[in-house]
Amino acid sequence: MTRSANLGFPRIGARRELKRATEAFWANPRDRSALEHTAADLRAANWATQRDAGVDVVPSNDFSFYDQVLDMTAALGAVPPRFGHAGGPVGIDTYFAMARGTAAAPAMEMTKWFDTNYHYIVPEFHRGQRFEPAGTKAVDEFREAAALGVHTRPVLLGPVTWLRLGKSKEPGFDALELLDDVVAVYGELLARLSDAGADWVQIDEPMLALDLDAAEREAYARAYAALAGTGPAVMLASYFEGLRDNTELAAALPVAGLHVDLIRAPDQLEPVLNAVGRDTVLSLGVVDGRNVWRADLDAALAPVETAVARLGAERVEVAPSCSLLHSPVDLDLETDLDPELKSWMAFAKQKLHEVATLARAAGEGREAVAEQLAAGREAVASRRRSPRIHKPAVAERLAAVTPEDARRASPYEERRAAQRAHLDLPPFPTTTIGSFPQTTEVRQKRAAFRRGDLDRAAYERFLEAATERTVRLQEELGLDVLVHGEFERNDMVEYFGERLDGFAFTRHGWVQSFGSRYVKPPVIFGDVARPAPMTVRWSAYARSLTDKPVKGMLTGPVTILQWSFVRDDVARAEVCRQLALAIRDEVGDLEAAGVRLIQIDEPALREGLPLRRADRDAYLAWAVECFRLASAGVADATQIHTHMCYAEFNDIMPAIAALDADVISIETSRSAMELLDGFVDFEYPNEIGPGVWDIHSPRVPAADEMRRLLEKAVRVLPRERLWVNPDCGLKTRGWPEVEASLAHMVEAARTLRREAAG
Ligand code: GLN
Ligand code: ZN
Repeated sequence: MTRSANLGFPRIGARRELKRATEAFWANPRDRSALEHTAADLRAANWATQRDAGVDVVPSNDFSFYDQVLDMTAALGAVPPRFGHAGGPVGIDTYFAMARGTAAAPAMEMTKWFDTNYHYIVPEFHRGQRFEPAGTKAVDEFREAAALGVHTRPVLLGPVTWLRLGKSKEPGFDALELLDDVVAVYGELLARLSDAGADWVQIDEPMLALDLDAAEREAYARAYAALAGTGPAVMLASYFEGLRDNTELAAALPVAGLHVDLIRAPDQLEPVLNAVGRDTVLSLGVVDGRNVWRADLDAALAPVETAVARLGAERVEVAPSCSLLHSPVDLDLETDLDPELKSWMAFAKQKLHEVATLARAAGEGREAVAEQLAAGREAVASRRRSPRIHKPAVAERLAAVTPEDARRASPYEERRAAQRAHLDLPPFPTTTIGSFPQTTEVRQKRAAFRRGDLDRAAYERFLEAATERTVRLQEELGLDVLVHGEFERNDMVEYFGERLDGFAFTRHGWVQSFGSRYVKPPVIFGDVARPAPMTVRWSAYARSLTDKPVKGMLTGPVTILQWSFVRDDVARAEVCRQLALAIRDEVGDLEAAGVRLIQIDEPALREGLPLRRADRDAYLAWAVECFRLASAGVADATQIHTHMCYAEFNDIMPAIAALDADVISIETSRSAMELLDGFVDFEYPNEIGPGVWDIHSPRVPAADEMRRLLEKAVRVLPRERLWVNPDCGLKTRGWPEVEASLAHMVEAARTLRREAAG
């Protein structure tokens, strides 16, 4: 029979139970049993959900108190020395200390898990590092499930991926030198799982779908040769990309099964079928684990049937493309969602049913699940023809876009002269990135307005007062370019999504971002259009209050795309172009309202970069085009700003320059301006505001500290092109720090002006 399998289920709970329990434990670490209970309940409920959905292969050890990479780090005893771990089992206090830091030891770094919005804790390596089996989590959870009557397939992160995800501070040291020692401990962990009764394990090696060098390929061969025969049969899981040039390598590894992602890379089916060994079980990821759409079951079944015909039903498994960790939990809770939209969607729980249906269709024939297939077909057809999705005006407008639309009227040097003439800014102009503190009061008023407890007029009066106070404060502090403060915004993407056609919002569609932080991305279900101005009211209001220039504040098309669940019936590039035109309209309206500096934030530009090098230029080309389409419609004298943070940009400098923004502000203060190197090496042509205040920390930097950072910048960049600003928006900071830090920032800029003049 063709089996259905799952690779991982969201651990956060349908109602975010894990968040509440974890944060309660952090607040009161004495009460550990409440957290343990919640965790056990969540695991039990998840196993039952999967079994009841008819999934044959149910995972265990996919649960985590914080992060599955940190779980592997703990299981291998790879605790960095600063946490004072003496060896042996890694307890929960050490575990959370690694994730969150303590007074004595800073937290381990955190970074993005491949191209998802999930963040993992980065393992740390050093020469001569020792490893040992330092935890029983995988075995305990396998036994826990077995006691509940569910025979599971435990999940482990594979050794090569784990090593490659980590970092070493020692120059010239390659973590792969640790491979043999690490693999020896994996061998022991696998043997223990086998002793506990596990007949299969799932080993995740997403790195197998990335560009590998010779050493990494050799590491794969060596690691899996060493593990062969030490424990349960291995289902080796690749996902997020196709195996491509690694297909032969993956197929030749001595493992019992191979999982491939046919959502991201449907074309790999044929090469994989040709390459797999005679007994290998092939797991086909045909249900999208990273999106919210109901699967097209007929389309998903085609590759499964092809594989069954070639390999036999016994050697084929049907699965989601990757762990369902990246999907919201349960669509059934969305009782407020419009029924038609809801009929087009599937969250993790619903995806399990799709997987089970597909496996039955492949094993027993389509007739066995005729009803489910028909229902799915109806939903897919209704989505395809819905007038709510397809708006002819949007398509016509896109078709009429010309290359000129994505080009400013004049080259930068001419624009610069026009902007200088009417902006009349001092050298080293000071500004901020947009938001000012989102205090409890601001959030409470918004919540009251949403509940209907505060009427619109009263809410807007409150926002006006907050905006006015912020404008006055900026005037008093002596900032040169003011902002309105973004008090009307809950979130930089949601605010725009709520004002655009084609977007929907869920109530419970949470996905883990890191630890106890979850996000609820908007859903772009149809053609995007802007029915009315979105921000003009607030920028124009701020402008009416002051003679100083006010900068308008928008989120860019690439960032809106990147932080949403995006429709899967058209290319992402196309959705992005629609977003770009909507933002372009807003830019035009701001300009018409007299707002002559307009910032379009693109903090997520870098994170949309494809995992494979070969795909990157194509992505950057459309991403840059979209930014330009959004921004290029303005007069020479209107100054376009952009802002980026969260990442290193040096590898995409040509693309950043190609945005042709007049001014870019970037996060640089934590790396003490190292990031600027990229801008210097590349001779970035336009103006730059390197962040001089790390807004991620409550610390108030001294004026001298900021002056020194600016002097560093002056040494490498033309001084007449420098701006002075914080690293990012100030919404997470408190007013006292903001006032003090901005005063110091203005002082630092003034000192530099004096030095330059004298
Ligand atoms: N304008 C936004 C703000 O100030 C930018 C946020 C961001 O870059 N993440 O909050
Ligand atoms: Zn930022």
